[in-house]
Amino acid sequence: MSSVSSKYVKYILSRPMAGAGGKTGTWRVHRPVINAERCIKCGLCWLYCPENAIDWLENKTVTVDYDYCKGCGICSDVCPVGAVTMVKEGVI
Ligand code: SF4
Ligand code: SF4
Repeated sequence: MSSVSSKYVKYILSRPMAGAGGKTGTWRVHRPVINAERCIKCGLCWLYCPENAIDWLENKTVTVDYDYCKGCGICSDVCPVGAVTMVKEGVI
């Protein structure tokens, strides 16, 4: 059985954009904070984020686009190693 290298896989995902009410990140009450040392780069947060607000960086780590993250907490719920903590806005 052969596998396909990820460099040949194209992802068709829409990017978040500002709507009539502006950027959706202003709705957020809690923000996800990723612990890069704990993260195992599994991609589940990226896969499950309903806003596509998780990005892969060049060094293959994940980061949150706070302009569009609504703070739903799904990324924190699906992270298998507890690397995403939801923190109340204004605390950090
Ligand atoms: S809190 Fe929700 S919207 Fe924000 S990055 Fe996580 S899954 Fe996406
Ligand atoms: S789900 Fe958790 S371990 Fe997986 S990439 Fe996201 S932060 Fe890292």
